[in-house]
Amino acid sequence: MRTPAGFECPHFYGDYHRGRDHEECRLLEASQPPQAWVASLCETCPVPGILRANACKTMHLNAEVTRSVFDLFQRRVQISAFCEKTARVVDQPEIGCGECHPLPPIFKVKE
Ligand code: SF4
Repeated sequence: MRTPAGFECPHFYGDYHRGRDHEECRLLEASQPPQAWVASLCETCPVPGILRANACKTMHLNAEVTRSVFDLFQRRVQISAFCEKTARVVDQPEIGCGECHPLPPIFKVKE
């Protein structure tokens, strides 16, 4: 579903049927601990970009709402990722852990 910021996000849900106006982020709701969502969080949320870059089914995202050190009024969604197949934290969710979709050798840096 399209978020209020205009990006496709599978975690966004909006119910506008028969005059209803209910919106929620199911990722923030399901995160540990559950986080409160407001529409402005979608504007800077990295999740739509992560899911466009990496659609791995075994990677799970956990979202947390944080405040910037430089701007305490700016709340942002911060993402951590975990791969259930390799049982390890994924440092770069856009790329993945490398187990299922290894980078071709041309992209590897020689040491
Ligand atoms: S906050 Fe992020 S994950 Fe939640 S609905 Fe908005 S774009 Fe999707």
